[in-house]
Amino acid sequence: MTGLRGVAILGATGSIGTSALRVVDRHRDAYRVVALTAHTDAEALGALVAAWRPALHGLSSGANGADLLRKAATHPEVDVVLNAIVGAAGLEATLAALEAGKRVALANKESLVLGGAMVLDAARRGGGELVPVDSEHSAILQAIGAYPATAVQRLVLTASGGPFRTWEPERVATATVQDALQHPTWSMGRKITVDSATLANKALEVIEAHFLFGVPFEDIEVVVHPQSIVHSFVEFVDGSVVAQMGVPSMELPILYALTHPARLPDQGVPRFDPVATGQLTFERVRGDAFPMLALGVSAGRRGGAAPAVYNAANEVAVAHFLEGRLGFSGIAEVVAETLQALGSLAGGTRVALLDADRRARSHVEELVRC
Ligand code: MG
Repeated sequence: MTGLRGVAILGATGSIGTSALRVVDRHRDAYRVVALTAHTDAEALGALVAAWRPALHGLSSGANGADLLRKAATHPEVDVVLNAIVGAAGLEATLAALEAGKRVALANKESLVLGGAMVLDAARRGGGELVPVDSEHSAILQAIGAYPATAVQRLVLTASGGPFRTWEPERVATATVQDALQHPTWSMGRKITVDSATLANKALEVIEAHFLFGVPFEDIEVVVHPQSIVHSFVEFVDGSVVAQMGVPSMELPILYALTHPARLPDQGVPRFDPVATGQLTFERVRGDAFPMLALGVSAGRRGGAAPAVYNAANEVAVAHFLEGRLGFSGIAEVVAETLQALGSLAGGTRVALLDADRRARSHVEELVRC
């Protein structure tokens, strides 16, 4: 009997989940936590459950993990599902929440990379709503405002360039795990930090933007912006360009994903000071040093199961890199080889996508083993 909006946080103990709980904590007069899930960290989840007393909670890695995520995503007291699950495992929860008419605050970009049209269709059928948490897509959403898709000419996504932005390609190829985990501007989980170093993350974001905003791939560009202050640009058909800016904190796009299209007063993030920020600079992406960007975008253009294959191969390759079994340049090599072998598989249905996902994963396992 409250006017509070109920929130489910899937992936509550991760970087996005933790930031989201800080945001909700500052707005307890508008939101309340109904469900919390974590993948494996029982201790961290236990602490959150004690603090927030959600109606539903649990570990998604358990035997009933899929069922738990579905229950959390469709819980009758939940209005907003923040999907901060890492990787392809997030797709089912996005579909379930949209089919149940929920707002999905989407931090799991893989939902759109894998499920693209299927996810949009689930939203249409169920009356659910997708609002991006990714800072670039939040920026685009805010910059577009009330304009229709026909007013948009081009999207320009910014990329920090990661820790290897200025490194020679030969040096990038031999980067260590420690090197890759030193992100210059954003503090994030390990998997996405490696994806930012290879620019695979930006490829996933181009695909995400294509589906979220209905803009063709040829009208989506990526530009390197080391300061991470401009979160993306929208060029309109009249040539006017609108950018959204702010300090690099995920709390801003998380808050906006909850309140869109309204805004709530918030003091949680330092105010932007243009003079103290200093110069804002922009550079072209160096494709020779970062082949994962072009590989991912071409998988997106190819469609079918190619984006799912790219994503799955990357997930497994990054896990091997983090465990020391694969070099940094090996990530792009095994992903390219896997796309060559499996990139023409059909997508279209959940079964086909999950099959392509599984085959890509075992293909990479074999490549790494020999
Ligand atoms: Mg992003």
